[in-house]
Amino acid sequence: MSSGIHLIFKAGERFTTTNPANGQRLADYAIADATEVNAAIARARQAQQWWSQVPLIRRAALLRRVARLLNESKQALATVITGESGKPMLEALLNDVLVSADAALFCATDAASVMRSEDVPHHNIALRLKRGRIEWEPLGVIGIIAPWNYPLSIPAADTFAALVTGNSVVLKPSELTPQTALALEQVINHALDEEGLTTLPRPVQVILGLGPTGGQLVEGEIDKLIFTGSVSTGRRVAMAAAERLLPVTLELGGKDAMIVLDDADLDVATSAAVWGSMLNAGQTCVSVERCYVQRKIYSKFISQCVQKIQALKVGPGADQQTDVGPLITQRQLHIVEQQVDEARALGAIVQIGGHRLPELGENFYAPTLVTDVDHTMSLMCEETFGPVLPVTPFDADEDAIRMANDSDFGLASSVWGSTRRAEPIARQLQAGTVLVNDLISGFAVAAAPHGGVKHSGLGRTHGRLGLRELVRPRYVDVDLMPSMKKLWWYPYAQNFQPMAAFVDMLHQPGLLARLRASLKTIPLLLRRRR
Ligand code: NAD
Repeated sequence: MSSGIHLIFKAGERFTTTNPANGQRLADYAIADATEVNAAIARARQAQQWWSQVPLIRRAALLRRVARLLNESKQALATVITGESGKPMLEALLNDVLVSADAALFCATDAASVMRSEDVPHHNIALRLKRGRIEWEPLGVIGIIAPWNYPLSIPAADTFAALVTGNSVVLKPSELTPQTALALEQVINHALDEEGLTTLPRPVQVILGLGPTGGQLVEGEIDKLIFTGSVSTGRRVAMAAAERLLPVTLELGGKDAMIVLDDADLDVATSAAVWGSMLNAGQTCVSVERCYVQRKIYSKFISQCVQKIQALKVGPGADQQTDVGPLITQRQLHIVEQQVDEARALGAIVQIGGHRLPELGENFYAPTLVTDVDHTMSLMCEETFGPVLPVTPFDADEDAIRMANDSDFGLASSVWGSTRRAEPIARQLQAGTVLVNDLISGFAVAAAPHGGVKHSGLGRTHGRLGLRELVRPRYVDVDLMPSMKKLWWYPYAQNFQPMAAFVDMLHQPGLLARLRASLKTIPLLLRRRR
């Protein structure tokens, strides 16, 4: 193996999923080994042959059907998602099911304009008798490796974009949320049946397993990889992909900054900070991971946030009263705990929370607000991915910009205050998405590109830019005078001077000079006639 990704599983091994809220076993699944991964890729390759021949209008119709089916099965899907990921049902409904249905509709309506071929003008007079066009063709088989935190909407949006552009897909979901991916596959296959597109193999193949199964997908004969996950895995994946020049889109972690100016609406901004940091128990790549508040409103901001955090109901996501669910795993809980404990040891003050909630279950951590933090603490520079809101004051706007940009990450950020002040600040933030007086919702805008700068990733998913990353341009040029030899072909003898005059004719300043130059090109034309 070339990549340094080591396969550690043996044929016949299985993995088990558990409900993060109560630790109950949900199901167990066979791990796809190298042979099975390659067989899935081969099936996807075969499927792409027929799928890419299905007219775009029918591929779009399929995705409209998928959107309808997602809506029809929203309750069942939200139950599966909450069972596997622990998030509150309302979040599963909106941030997974609705975002996925919106993505399907976006692909159905906008793919035609992305796939439309474009005329290429020929400015040089010598090339005028030609017609050039850029045509867009699918890449082939797209590998998608997905995380657990948005177990439906992340793989769904990428899968729909791949399908509508004529690609097939091999999807490797997170080992923590396989059932959600299987449900997505089922919805797509159902829609294919309803559309009368029953040819086998199917254009979406799901492979299940742990990291090494994903590693095998990267090693396999796919044409592009969309990886969403942590920076450390993303780096390993990118290195393996580089070995074989496999194009990759990387959607990685974030340390998203929220800047609150002193003319912001305090009630709105504090509600946003609490929701933005606690949504999905803080396990959102575009969440609020650090908050900078202008000193004039700082103490009021803290007291309002503490009050609002106190009012949150923590519990199992399946309970419709729950605001904040459990963390996904013990491992994730340890990371959060370590970061908060380290900050505390370095002088930070935990205003509320800062401890586990064992009475609720093993994976619960209290919604937490920490002040007196600085950038020497991992809580302010590494991804926390937990229900923790660290807040620090700033004086001048420039200080907020400097601190927000003082990060290896650059996924998303937000600025709160009058648009007159907030918008110019937003433009100076190093992030793939910057929202003014809102947060996170950019991910739900199906037409908006999603992706990061710095260690947060490479390339874009979602929107027209995301579709563009799944097609390749082919330049097709047709000469309209097939019986004419070109002036610049052999023999070169005696052609240099007239050719130099030709260059002058095109580019010398002054009309008269260009006319004079054009006369000097006549021998060239006469010679060519003979
Ligand atoms: P992860 O990196 O642990 O795993 C992501 C996926 O990669 C999983 O399917 C996993 O099985 C697979 N994988 C693990 N090792 C692999 C290997 N060596 N080769 C190939 N595949 C491998 O991430 P996670 O814990 O599932 O997800 C959380 C992370 O994802 C966070 O850092 C979060 O910020 C990030 N994330 C980013 C975005 C975004 O759009 N930028 C969205 C959601 C989550």
